[in-house]
Formats: sequence, C-alpha cells, structure tokens
Amino acid sequence: MRFIADMMLGRLARWLRLYGYDTLYGIEDDDEIVRIALREDRIILTRDSALTERAKKLGVKAFLLSSNSLEGQVEELKRLGVEFGELFPANAHCPKCNGPLRRASKEEVRGKVPPKVYERYDEFYVCERCGQIYWPGRQWEEMLKMDRKLRKAT
Ligand SMILES: [Zn+2]
Repeated sequence: MRFIADMMLGRLARWLRLYGYDTLYGIEDDDEIVRIALREDRIILTRDSALTERAKKLGVKAFLLSSNSLEGQVEELKRLGVEFGELFPANAHCPKCNGPLRRASKEEVRGKVPPKVYERYDEFYVCERCGQIYWPGRQWEEMLKMDRKLRKAT
C-alpha cells in the first residue's frame, strides 16, 4: 500500500512513513493529488469529501478520514485494513522527506551529529535522500511512547 496524503494530514503522513509506508505529502493542488495517485497507484488519504468524490469518479482509491486526532485517524486506517507493524527504523521511510532510511556506521556520522550524541549512541540511521540522521534519543523515545499509545487504542 502506498499513499498520498492531503495537506490536512501532515502528522499522519509522518507516522505512516515511520511505519514503513511510502507516503507522499505536501502537494496542495487537489487535481495534482488525484493525478499522482492515478499514475503511481497510490491511495489518497484526505479529510475532504469533495476530493474523495473526485478521486472515485476517476477510479482512484481514497480513504476519507473523519477524525481530527492522530490516534483517531490511525484507528480509522486500521479499520480500513492498514497494518501498523514494527515501528521505526526497520523499513521506515524518512518522516521528513519519505526517502529510504539505512543503518549508518558510527564512523560515518562523526562530525555530523553533536559530540555528546556521538559519544552516547552506537545506533544511527541516515536518510538516503535528504541525509537526515536519526538515533535513539529523546525524539525516538517520544515516538515509542506514541506507538504504545496508538497500539492501546485498538
Ligand atoms: Zn529524508
């Protein structure tokens, strides 16, 4: 399953990427969203019923979400058959740009992360597209906390 999310679903898009789903985000024009979804066989995620109708007329699959909250949206996607398996970094896409992540050696990130981080951590991941580096720091802990919360919501 690959997705394209409308402008109202930025937070959800980042989470889908972390869970390993190729998810486009940041396209403002509805026609463009439908065109890309058609061309790349992506499911549209939207909170806009007009966009959903337009997509369906053209044979493009769209999931219309009604919830305002991330937890609610994840719940709706689960009901639609979207699985939320192992969280970041196994098979994750970069939450920033949707590029693929790969494990990076400690040597490779020397000088690219704060010295304290370099000293403290041994596990690093780098985005092959934008170069963003990830490690199991505070942000990571927050993601795991959110993951537990999302799982509980089932
Ligand atoms: Zn990236």
